[in-house]
Amino acid sequence: MAQDGFVLVSRESQITKNSHTVSPVQSLQYEGAHDYLAEIASFVDNQSDKLWSLNRFIHRNPELAFKEFKAHEALTKFMRSRPERWQVTSSACGIETAWIAVYDSGRKGPAVSFNVEMDALPNIGHACGHNLIATASLAGALATADVMSTHSLPGKVYVFGTPGEEGYHGGKIQLLNRGAYDKVDVSLISHPSILNNSPFVRTTAFCRLEVEFFGRAAHAANAPWQGINALDALVASYNSVSMLRQQTQPNDVIGFAITNGGGDATNIIHAYSSAVCTIRSSSSSRLETLVDKVSACFDAGAQATGATVKIKVIKGYKDHVPNMCLASSFAKHWSSLPDPYPVGPELRADEREYTYVKASTDQGDISHALPSVNVSFAIPAGPEKGGPHSADFEKAAGTKWAFDRALRVGKGMAGVAVDVLTKDGFLDTVKEEWRERFGVENQF
Ligand SMILES: [Zn+2]
Ligand SMILES: [Zn+2]
Repeated sequence: MAQDGFVLVSRESQITKNSHTVSPVQSLQYEGAHDYLAEIASFVDNQSDKLWSLNRFIHRNPELAFKEFKAHEALTKFMRSRPERWQVTSSACGIETAWIAVYDSGRKGPAVSFNVEMDALPNIGHACGHNLIATASLAGALATADVMSTHSLPGKVYVFGTPGEEGYHGGKIQLLNRGAYDKVDVSLISHPSILNNSPFVRTTAFCRLEVEFFGRAAHAANAPWQGINALDALVASYNSVSMLRQQTQPNDVIGFAITNGGGDATNIIHAYSSAVCTIRSSSSSRLETLVDKVSACFDAGAQATGATVKIKVIKGYKDHVPNMCLASSFAKHWSSLPDPYPVGPELRADEREYTYVKASTDQGDISHALPSVNVSFAIPAGPEKGGPHSADFEKAAGTKWAFDRALRVGKGMAGVAVDVLTKDGFLDTVKEEWRERFGVENQF
C-alpha cells in the first residue's frame, strides 16, 4: 500500500520498554469473547517459531504482483500440514498465485475470513511489509480455528491468499468478481506502517487516466498553420490541471506524467502526445467527480488546439470504509493484549475516530462488498525512519520486533473473529451497519 504524508516520530519516543506492567492474566479479564483472548494469545505464541520461518522466507524471497510463486507454494504447503485440517485450493479461481484455505466446523454458522497478501515491490523487495500482513492473517486464522475446535463453535474460517495488491490489477477484486467471497460474512486484514495503530483506517479511492492527443504533422517553419499541435494540447491540459489543483479538496491528489511529449524534431508540428494521470480521493463518489473535472481539462486542451483527445479511464481501487463494529471489537482486544515493546501511539479501547491514509488498497473494494477491517499497525522504523515503499522500511519489515507486532495484530483479529462467531447479535449489528453505509450515497 502506497503511503504518503507521514509525520515522522523519533524512534525513542515510540519505545516504552518498561510499559509491560500489567500481567497477561489481569489484562485479559474482560467481558464476552475476551475469555477467549487468553487462549488465542497463548496459541499464537506457541505457533511463533513456525510463523517466523514463513515470515522470514517470504521476506527473503520477494516476488512481484501475480508472480508470488514461492510464497504460494510455501503457504499452501504450510496450510495443508496443519493439524486443524484445512481444505486448501491452490491457484484458486483460475489465478495462478491465489489460494484459499477453509476450516469447516461441519456445523452451520458465520463465515469469517482473513486476507493474506504476498507481493513485493520492484527493486526494493518487501518494502510494503506484506510478509507481515501474511503473518498477522495466518496467526489470526489459525487461532480462530483452534478456538472453534476447542469449544465446538459452528461456522467456517476462510483464508484467502490474495496476489497482486501493488499496482492496480487487484487480486482481491479478481477473487471477489469470481465469487470467492460469496459465502463470507466478514473480511479481516492489516497493514504495517511506522506510525498508526488503528483499525479505523480509511484509504483513498484511485483510478488511472491514460490520455492521448492526435494532431497533424506539418513543417514547423514553412507551413505551421497546416498542423495541429498535439504537444500544445497536452501543455494546455497540464496547465489546466495545475490550476484545478488549487480548487481541489484536501484528500484529492492528481499525479500527472507526460509519457510522450510528441515529435522527434523541432521543425515538425507534433502530431501525437500522451500522458497518464493517477487520481486519488477520499471516496469513490468524490473520485468520479474529480475524474470529470480532470477530463474536462484534457477536453479543453483538445478544443483549444483542434487536436482529438482519447481518454481511457482505468478503474483502480475503491476507498476502504472500515466497519466500525468490527473495528471497535479489534480496539478492545488490541488494548487488552500485553505488549512488552509497543510502538507508536497506543489505541484506546473506546476510540472510534477514522484514521485517514493517503494510500489505496484493493481491500477497499472488499469493504464495499462486505464488512471489512484493515488494521494499520506500527512497526519500529529503520535508521532512516522511512515509511512504506522505502528501502528503509524493507529492512524494518524483516525484523523480529516487527514480526512480534504482527502477531499481536493476529491475536486481535482472532478476537474479532471469535466475537463474530460467539456473540449473540454481533454479526447482525455488523451487517446492519454495512447495509446502512452502502445502501445510501457513499459520501461523508
Ligand atoms: Zn502494501
Ligand atoms: Zn504498497
